[in-house]
Amino acid sequence: ERLATASLTSDDLDVERSLRPQRLDEYCGQDHIKESLHILIEAASTRGESLDHVIFSGPPGLGKTTLATVVAHELGAQIKTTSGPAIERTGDLAAILTNLQPGDVLFIDEIHRLNRAVEEVLYPAMEDFALDIVIGKGPAARSIRLDIPRFTLVGATTRSGMLTGPLRDRFGISFRLDYYAVSDLAEIVMRSASILDVAIDTASAFEIASRSRGTPRLANRLLKRVRDYAQVRGEGHITVEVAREALSFFSIDELGLDWMDVRILTTLCRTFQGRAVGLTTLASAVGEDPATLEDVYEPYLLQQGLIVRTPQGRLATPVAFEHLGIEGASSR
Ligand code: ADP
Repeated sequence: ERLATASLTSDDLDVERSLRPQRLDEYCGQDHIKESLHILIEAASTRGESLDHVIFSGPPGLGKTTLATVVAHELGAQIKTTSGPAIERTGDLAAILTNLQPGDVLFIDEIHRLNRAVEEVLYPAMEDFALDIVIGKGPAARSIRLDIPRFTLVGATTRSGMLTGPLRDRFGISFRLDYYAVSDLAEIVMRSASILDVAIDTASAFEIASRSRGTPRLANRLLKRVRDYAQVRGEGHITVEVAREALSFFSIDELGLDWMDVRILTTLCRTFQGRAVGLTTLASAVGEDPATLEDVYEPYLLQQGLIVRTPQGRLATPVAFEHLGIEGASSR
């Protein structure tokens, strides 16, 4: 498993639960979303109504699941959690919906992966809090409508572009999460360190934060690795020196790039000397599958301005040349 991945790995599971904020004021960063949610939740609670359905979109590891939990807590509601691919048949969703208590939060992760038939059951549930059940077959078939409790659907998606129009339209509230500023990530690192009971100073928290690719999940993971390293090679507490040493030991550089990212950039800068390269050519040069290269590695390199995509292919930017300390960027 790759250390620098934003996806959930087995490495995260032991602490994921204990580090997850439960309330809005424990949730670091994303100030606009927090303030808006605070107002919306307060207003719904005061009126004694359920909160409108909410959708959170954005890259993995940025805190969508966490926000769903926080929303439920702040509403004083129970949360039922499932995911798009887990609901295979319409009957599965009907069972979930009929078992809800009034005011419950139903969280569906990866909601863009619901299949069409299941999605169609969700429409009347979201809109009218009703379930349409078809009884019988052929010409004798008829449909009856069953009421279900009022609930709040919270959806999360990493691919908001893949949501169907009708589903998107049924969410009254929609937020897009963005990569975190280093200072917000440093706050998360400090918070997690205190939960994990490891001593750390602000400068070291910033050191870890700045290599975390704007992603809280990664910040927590790197913190854990640095903690291990400090325990064995240092004196238990985390200093800037120990943090730097540990992160370079685990091959995470100053920008949070791992060895594969560096290999991709080096290949573009050295082997192809800054020329545009097609995806498959680049993939075979670095020994990676083209789809993985595109979905897993490229987004962060693009976001950091280290590479650009042109109609001719992928291209290393002067930033990449400078980062690797390779001459020749200016002449291209
Ligand atoms: P997503 O659902 O977007 O993939 P998660 O909600 O599972 O991401 O977040 C991953 C981990 O990062 C959580 O376990 C939590 O500990 C941490 N985390 C995410 N966002 C925040 C935040 N704003 N403040 C503190 N910790 C956070």
